[in-house]
Amino acid sequence: MRIAAIDTFIVTVPRDTPYLGPLGPDESVNARGYIVRQGNGTIYPTVDRSIVVRATAEDGSIGWGETYGICAPRATCEIINDLLVPALIGHDVVDIGATWDMLYGLMRVRGCWGGFHVDAIAAIDIALWDLKAKSAGVPVRDLLGPSVHSTIASYLSGLPAATLEERVTLAREWQARGVSAFKFAAVVSHEGVIEEMAALRAALGDDAAIMVDLHWKFDVAAARDLLACLAPLRPHFAEAPVKPEDMAGLARLASESPVPIAAGEEWYTDYEATNRLAAGPLAYIQPEMGHTGITQFLRIAKVAAAHGVAIAPHATIGTGIFLAASLNASATISQLWKHEWQHSVFERNLALLDTDMSHDNAGYKLPTGPGLGVEPNARFWQHAEQVA
Ligand code: MG
Repeated sequence: MRIAAIDTFIVTVPRDTPYLGPLGPDESVNARGYIVRQGNGTIYPTVDRSIVVRATAEDGSIGWGETYGICAPRATCEIINDLLVPALIGHDVVDIGATWDMLYGLMRVRGCWGGFHVDAIAAIDIALWDLKAKSAGVPVRDLLGPSVHSTIASYLSGLPAATLEERVTLAREWQARGVSAFKFAAVVSHEGVIEEMAALRAALGDDAAIMVDLHWKFDVAAARDLLACLAPLRPHFAEAPVKPEDMAGLARLASESPVPIAAGEEWYTDYEATNRLAAGPLAYIQPEMGHTGITQFLRIAKVAAAHGVAIAPHATIGTGIFLAASLNASATISQLWKHEWQHSVFERNLALLDTDMSHDNAGYKLPTGPGLGVEPNARFWQHAEQVA
């Protein structure tokens, strides 16, 4: 099956409340529609936005892929159209891992070991797996290995409300609907991280799994102090405690922390996972399909398995195409814990796709169709803009 064309689209879906919740003190929307969250200095858009690619084979069959488009999406589109597409026209879709290696190799000596370049490859990689599985008439997961999960357990991520009182109320509402695992975001814990953990533990009881995403906010010393205070409140894990570049600091912290440490949503490759796990242990790795594609998602999981580390896949903002890829891949990972569930994104954007993928408050139901099991519908195309 040879590639005849690859088309690139930016998909933008407006939202009422910005991701992570209403604007905090000293936060405002800039002229390009971005907010800088003061809690961690990171820029976020006010819309849901991702990049979708459509790969068309010479026989007319179509595969879909998706990657990050939340910031500067045209940069990634240009990499796809200018660098990757010419290398793929006429390319035979046989060994997709070898294709990933070839595309990565185009820019490796220029230091493009992650970022927009590898995001662009991830979108292509997912589309090629979709094509290959559709050609075989099976779900993508059937090409990846034996499925060991028939549904994918999940945890609720984010409590998008302005005050701690409102966030606690929101968590209790979800608990009443059957949710038992919750993650809150320290970057919008305006009343304090320890205060939020204590309030949630008191409200949700001893049996709830409560995680905190520390959003790379702290240095090692400050994180150590914070984790000591959080430990009696029994967080299930603390995520991303220190800056992503501080590999030694993260390893040191994780080896001595009284709270299990999770990290890895910003990692791209098994090269990085290998180096990080050589530096020291982690309790959970959180691969993000929008960065890794299916090929690197599975390679990272393999490195994690060799180190006895559990996988808790990250879920970012998108239409659901890369989420379908993440669920398909997760079904084959034996050391899977739970998959992140961005409830404020998933349910709403599911309307853009024809799929039977769903979520029932305890976990995800896998799409059953061939390939990824998702197809953009008419509503999707109302939000899509082709980038040539
Ligand atoms: Mg996170």
